[in-house]
Amino acid sequence: MKKVVKFGGSSCASAAQFEKVGQIINADPARRYVVVSAPGKRYNSDTKVTDMLYHAYDLCVNGGDFRTIMDKALKRYDEIVEGLNIKLDLSEDFEIIAAQFDQKAGTDYAASRGEYLNGKVAAAYLGYEFIDAADVIFFDNDGNFLPDETNDVLSKRLAGVERAVVPGFYGSQLNTKVKTFSRGGSDVTGSIVAKAIHADIYENWTDVSGFLVADPRIIDRPKVINMITYKELRELAYMGASVLHEDAIFPVRREGIPINIRNTNAPEDPGTMIVESTCAKSDYTITGIAGKKGFVGVFIEKDMMNSEIGFGRKVLQAFEDNNISFEHMPSGIDTMTIVVHQSEFEEKEQRVLAAIHRLAKPDTVNLVTDLALIAVVGRGMKDNRGTAGRIFSALAHARINVRMIDQGSSEQNIIIGVENKDFELAIRAIYDIFVVTRV
Ligand code: ASP
Repeated sequence: MKKVVKFGGSSCASAAQFEKVGQIINADPARRYVVVSAPGKRYNSDTKVTDMLYHAYDLCVNGGDFRTIMDKALKRYDEIVEGLNIKLDLSEDFEIIAAQFDQKAGTDYAASRGEYLNGKVAAAYLGYEFIDAADVIFFDNDGNFLPDETNDVLSKRLAGVERAVVPGFYGSQLNTKVKTFSRGGSDVTGSIVAKAIHADIYENWTDVSGFLVADPRIIDRPKVINMITYKELRELAYMGASVLHEDAIFPVRREGIPINIRNTNAPEDPGTMIVESTCAKSDYTITGIAGKKGFVGVFIEKDMMNSEIGFGRKVLQAFEDNNISFEHMPSGIDTMTIVVHQSEFEEKEQRVLAAIHRLAKPDTVNLVTDLALIAVVGRGMKDNRGTAGRIFSALAHARINVRMIDQGSSEQNIIIGVENKDFELAIRAIYDIFVVTRV
């Protein structure tokens, strides 16, 4: 059995956290390939090393004193190294990094050093081989990740290595210039490594015991989702639920490798399993609820719209021409609504409205503003009757006016539009009906 284990920033933020990481790895011999983030926050007001590096590089480029921040960053590592009692001197590495800063090696190079150095610390602590991600993970000149080239080189490199640490978050362009993924990208590295070694499982260790049924800022101590499919996760993540980097599912999904979200601070918790598909039923009919505020619905009416071939294309053209992506498109016989992000739409609204009139010649166009969208997601919904009924009766009892409904054809989600002001109340009402009272 082979497992890839990825530890997030808070899991490697201090020597005490690193010790937990060591215990977790040593508890299971299958945990052979380790991906680490840079040291994250030790407490709420703390600064992540990655942020220190971004800041330092910014100062350097603008002729400021970046060495003071670099000294602070070095101190973070020194404290970890001393606390773990390992023999590792990173001062030379810091000299090299400072010299590279002076030569303007780039923001990505700067940010990546947090993972690079933490990878060295982890490798020394665990007694594992250190593999620089710049030698095995590749991007093209435009900064796009190269999955095939990476997989070829990485799988060959790891084939003969029993146990290794690969720093997360970065790779290189044409083997020379360091390039990072977007923020939180060590999750992606873990997934790429899992694919390369055909791992049985990709364990992603963080500081929560898995995905939660709803946002803990809205629901007090929400339940953990035990099992979720990639598709459900995508729906929830799209609507703002975040634990895992969005791109982390793609490499493993194609290989059928499950991801297990685990908590470094509560290793006995089983966490959440993310799988391609499963016979396991969700605990509460629905798998999760997520949502976002700040949408606007562009409501378009035209008599006999249903028989006019090309009407929808012309309307969407108006959005495309103005470089606005649309999120949802519920429609009726003579009506259609295009739901877009209000912040993206506002500054271009008159141009878009004019374009709709010019291209599609509708009877009327109206705007429904300050909408919040809530996605109720669950693979079990299509086989259960009454799910929609329960959602809407819960909302009616909570005196919430539903402004829009869209059930995806996958039958895995129901999207509900409510006014921004009703957003939290609506989520509480839905959570309550499915998870708390379960009536
Ligand atoms: N250290 C990087 C960040 O703070 C990447 C990561 O943690 O995954 O975004």
